[in-house]
Amino acid sequence: MELLDDLLNMAPCGFLSTTDSGIILVANITLREMIGYELTSLQGRHIETLLPMIGRLLYHTHLVPLLVMHGKVEEAVLALQLQRGGTVPVLVNAVRRERREKIVHDWVFMPMHLRTQYEDQILRAKKAADEATRLQIQANAALVEARAALEIKQAELVEANARLEALATLDSLTGLKNRRVFQEQLDFQIALATRTASPLSVLILDVDHFKRINDTFGHPTGDRYLQMLASILQQNSRDVDIVARYGGEEFAIILLNTNQIDAIGVAEKLRRAVEAESWPNTAITISIGVSTLSEDVHDQLHLLSSADRALYLSKERGRNRVTHAYEMERNVLQ
Ligand code: GH3
Ligand code: MG
Ligand code: MG
Repeated sequence: MELLDDLLNMAPCGFLSTTDSGIILVANITLREMIGYELTSLQGRHIETLLPMIGRLLYHTHLVPLLVMHGKVEEAVLALQLQRGGTVPVLVNAVRRERREKIVHDWVFMPMHLRTQYEDQILRAKKAADEATRLQIQANAALVEARAALEIKQAELVEANARLEALATLDSLTGLKNRRVFQEQLDFQIALATRTASPLSVLILDVDHFKRINDTFGHPTGDRYLQMLASILQQNSRDVDIVARYGGEEFAIILLNTNQIDAIGVAEKLRRAVEAESWPNTAITISIGVSTLSEDVHDQLHLLSSADRALYLSKERGRNRVTHAYEMERNVLQ
């Protein structure tokens, strides 16, 4: 039986010596305390009885061949079976040498508790980081999806608003601005023209004997006439002028920066354009009343009522003509 000196017995690592076939000859105290065996119960055992199944496999397929071929094992990682159950991870170095004319294998075991604990912690931290990354990717994908859905909703909202705006501001038959928008615009333009001392005129137009069109050719034809008339008015007006359907077969136009003479000119041009149009069934004409901002006529109410009275006069004078409110004042004075 071999005996170990105190130094080796108490060395800060486990030491074990086996025959070349693996039978334990001696084990130091550090190793015995590490795994919880008495020396007597270790001696004569095969080293593989201290190893769990996987360790035994490693011992036979890897460690012994290394010892036989290269004479040593360096930094192998193994687990040792504890007497009380469980295992302890160890770092193993071993050498094969001849002692007293016998081949022996000397093994040194360094416990790796801390290292495996660190490895466990690192592994757990990595798993947590991976999970966090996975959750973040998931959350990002959900966010991208939510953003896309939001963008679609916003686009729908913009479209719905545009439709509502069109419904609220445009006349559905002709596509011209409706009476409400016309009046809003007129208020705004009168204020602007007054502040900048610019001339401003309005026209009110009414189709002559329009009832006959409806009565003779039917309401849908009447509608078609109104649509054609709307586009004639739009085409013969400047972009800045505000053309609106004032109601029924009446239309109104705000002529920006236009004095009474020019307004009469524009009204004449429109009257002639309607007269010259080739209408589908029978020709129509329009009568027009014109009014211009002045000292006496300086707000919407007066501007529109004087244009309306001028229109009435055009009808009285035989229709298909233009009357400026100014002429009425003159007639009244005369
Ligand atoms: P005048 O103005 O020359 O005195 O004669 P009028 O025949 O045009 O008489 P009035 O202005 O009183 O009649 C307008 C007609 O316009 C009556 C109405 O049926 C018709 N009308 C109003 N709105 C529409 C519409 O949207 N579509 C059609 N087809 N007809 C309409
Ligand atoms: Mg009419
Ligand atoms: Mg009318």
